[in-house]
Amino acid sequence: MNYALTTPKAVVKTTSESDIQIVVRFATVNNLRVSVRGGGHSVFNSCDGIILDLAGWDEIVYDRDDDTVRFRPGALGGKVVKVAGERGRCVMSGTCNTVGMTSLYLGGGFGPLAPKLGMAIDSLLSARLITASGEILTVSPESNPEVFHILASAGQTLGVVTEMRIKTYPVNETLNTADETVFFTSLTFPTSRAVEITNLLSSAKWDENTAVYLMLVSPPEAGAPLFIFSVNYYGSDEDAKRVLKGLYDLKPIAEATKRVPYAQMNDNNNDSGERGEFKRMIGVGLKRMSVEGMEGMVEALENLLAVGDDLGKSYVLFELLGMDVARKSSVGVYPHRDIDIWCIPITWYSRPENHAVADKFGRDVCKALKGGDVSEDKVVYAAFRAGDEKPEELWGSKETAEKIGEMKAKLDPKGVFLKF
Ligand SMILES: Cc1cc2nc3c(=O)[nH]c(=O)nc-3n(C[C@H](O)[C@H](O)[C@H](O)COP(=O)(O)OP(=O)(O)OC[C@H]3O[C@@H](n4cnc5c(N)ncnc54)[C@H](O)[C@@H]3O)c2cc1C
Repeated sequence: MNYALTTPKAVVKTTSESDIQIVVRFATVNNLRVSVRGGGHSVFNSCDGIILDLAGWDEIVYDRDDDTVRFRPGALGGKVVKVAGERGRCVMSGTCNTVGMTSLYLGGGFGPLAPKLGMAIDSLLSARLITASGEILTVSPESNPEVFHILASAGQTLGVVTEMRIKTYPVNETLNTADETVFFTSLTFPTSRAVEITNLLSSAKWDENTAVYLMLVSPPEAGAPLFIFSVNYYGSDEDAKRVLKGLYDLKPIAEATKRVPYAQMNDNNNDSGERGEFKRMIGVGLKRMSVEGMEGMVEALENLLAVGDDLGKSYVLFELLGMDVARKSSVGVYPHRDIDIWCIPITWYSRPENHAVADKFGRDVCKALKGGDVSEDKVVYAAFRAGDEKPEELWGSKETAEKIGEMKAKLDPKGVFLKF
């Protein structure tokens, strides 16, 4: 795939709905593409038409009357978390402070509180959407509900969202704590423990208080890859140690455990969330873990690292965020609520010459998974798409993909905005 940036005809930075109306009307009449930039993380936010750069429009308002938060399209996850945290409230956010909150909610949205709160879209109350004709729609379960249904999951293609309102939750009650802190542990293992780790992950039954991330990384001073677990537990240290006993019993070679204030919960990920360089990624859903899949993945990362050059920060991330709470909701057209495990190979590099190597790594990981865990169809999270997926891989069925296409045709008949 070619992800050389295209050169736009114009970049419009604005903090006003009326400016956006003018831009999209102009683009529609003149058959120009428009791409929207919020947090600026996606590889799909450039085009040869007009880039609407909304990064500077990051106002966040906490509404005391109903304990909701409203934010503008440039608001980043970390800032919304901070605003809510200052009021003793928490929100469903992603794992990186730097990711745009609006597009997270438009894509579905996973994060460390997903086991407790469900997906981000399950906390979405309403949005203001400017369509390709320049019309402003209020979109919520009560107002334009059919648009809301598509916007919550496939919303990155429908128009420009200028404001969202989301739910907040009491921190202490939600995180089972009295001091607004979260138990966090980081446990490191050599890849020689791949079989035991896979067996543990296959059999472990973690409840909604446990958010497990597993990374397969290259250590900073090179050498063989390592497994690093990063686990949040929402409860006391004693309960955490009991629930995570299986992991501790595997005798990690390094351990760091602490309690972290809720509002700083994602600060560990600030480096990986920095914008800049290429971070090529694809999110592949797994029904189960398998030893063959895990070993294939270790081999794929070893092969990538053997290339050397500037690829050393590449890694594979597994997100094991229990979906029991999310499965109780049916907000939006997100089709993969049955999937509890996401595998995200991330090729991180700076030289464009390595684009082909990056693509190959993603393909190698998918191949390893197909041999092991993904027995039949590939399942891809649209917010982590590589860009060449079949509609069913993103949307679960042709019918859902068609419904999204019909709504897109209604709101954006000339295809001004991004397409999946
Ligand atoms: C480092 C990193 C960490 C991530 N972590 C998570 C995570 O924890 N959980 C998760 O679910 N996903 C995660 N993602 C995926 C992320 O949700 C998507 O990549 C998201 O689209 C990025 O949003 P952004 O605003 O930062 O990027 P942008 O590139 O600014 O926006 C991405 C796309 O969203 C659309 N868009 C943006 N703003 C608007 C708007 N106001 N109105 C309409 N459309 C808009 C546009 O089509 C744009 O092309 C992560 C991605 C990265 C790179």
